[in-house]
Amino acid sequence: MLYLDNSATTKVAPEALDAMLPYLQEEYGNPASKYYTLAENSKNAVKQARNQVAAIVGCDPDEVIFTSGATESNNMVLKGIADYYENQNQTIITTKTEHPSIIDTCEYLESKGFHIIYLDVDKFGRVNPNKVKEAIENYHPLLVSIIWGNNELGSLNDIEKIAHYCAINNVFFHTDATQVIGKIHVDISEHPGIRFLSLSSHKIHGPKGIGACIIRKENETLQTKITPLIHGGGQEFEYRSGTLAVHNIVGFGKAAELAHLNLSTTKEHLEQLEKSLTDILINQFKDKISFNNDQQFKIPGLLSLQFKGVNNELLLKKLSNHMALSTGSACSSGKPSHVLSAAGFTQNEIQQTVRISMSKYINVDDLDFFKSLK
Ligand code: PLP
Repeated sequence: MLYLDNSATTKVAPEALDAMLPYLQEEYGNPASKYYTLAENSKNAVKQARNQVAAIVGCDPDEVIFTSGATESNNMVLKGIADYYENQNQTIITTKTEHPSIIDTCEYLESKGFHIIYLDVDKFGRVNPNKVKEAIENYHPLLVSIIWGNNELGSLNDIEKIAHYCAINNVFFHTDATQVIGKIHVDISEHPGIRFLSLSSHKIHGPKGIGACIIRKENETLQTKITPLIHGGGQEFEYRSGTLAVHNIVGFGKAAELAHLNLSTTKEHLEQLEKSLTDILINQFKDKISFNNDQQFKIPGLLSLQFKGVNNELLLKKLSNHMALSTGSACSSGKPSHVLSAAGFTQNEIQQTVRISMSKYINVDDLDFFKSLK
């Protein structure tokens, strides 16, 4: 079975699994406990994982807040900021091609009286940074939340420019970096405008149910304050209470370390796979296919394409014994893609669309299967 749905989730790296196992067996201490070795061992393991996650995004370890995943991180930032600053500013700017964990949270905040501006996007689902600038100047928002790399079309937003506009206007900026971590260079120390960032372990060959929200420390001009989503024992610097899932955190840390260490080889490999697959598909299907995604400024290894006149769900079912593909985002299965609609695709085009997302565990030879398709 050829697994080509790595934007939905990834295989756990054997190294991450090995690192986790002791914390599901003999090392079961609660890292918040004191004075005995079992607790100390867990505490040290969490500390190491925090360093590993911090290194892959370029922040300080104490800016890493472990959550259950990017969905929670996105909720944490939007609801947390909205709650804390409710009496000062109720405007949030985002785009029409965010992940449902942003869009649905924005709709919830709208129902509570917040003013949400959903910016239009181009045919690749990307927002024009000048439109973000204009909107900031016109609406003076509390927060701007814009996805770094789109999970359906793979397009990268110009985060550098957007972060700069937010910084010079003293506006909080959050980016959902879930799909780009381990695939492109991410170093938020280069973008002081980014105040919050979401990432997830299971997209980088770590376990599911764990992710992080990066909350940058306060600076002279911007106080970073959010109300926690989960109250309780005060873990995670009071931002997210609950006993830490040490085994998951350790697995996430190991996956982050590997992703960081191997970034350039992974990126090159994914680009090579993408090129080979594109060539095979064009050769095999000629004008019976068309690509939805941009060729440049994109997440390597992710393709979105249409098989003309073929219903995507029927195609996926037909191929399901041989390969795992997707019609788009796994999180919005069942609903027509809001991302492709916002990017201007017709209903018919959306129903022909297939997403192929590759990983470092795929070899160029594995793609030969596509040569047998008609
Ligand atoms: N944000 C993006 C861009 C995603 O692609 C996903 C997962 O598909 C999420 C957020 C949600 O991540 P998690 O599964 O960790 O909650």
